[in-house]
Amino acid sequence: MSDETVAKVRRWYRQRIWFARRDACLKAALYRCATPGCLERATDCDHIRPHRGDWSLFIKSSNHQALCHSCHSRKTAREDGGFGNRRREAGQGVGG
Ligand SMILES: [Zn+2]
Repeated sequence: MSDETVAKVRRWYRQRIWFARRDACLKAALYRCATPGCLERATDCDHIRPHRGDWSLFIKSSNHQALCHSCHSRKTAREDGGFGNRRREAGQGVGG
């Protein structure tokens, strides 16, 4: 993603609608991590298909799954080719 897109997506993660979607995602999953065999409590809402700055992929709940923080970090780091390893804001990578 370009720096411009990263800045845009960072703003999305601060919007009230995102917090509402994330909470709904975690509650629907009963705070269980979606990774098979993982028993950690889900704290993060992951984008099943990486949104890459696409608002509709970012916001639609059918593209969301609950993951624990470590599974989410691993997935994001893999998908973004290390991008997710950069400094995070409020524990959220911007890619996942
Ligand atoms: Zn997990």
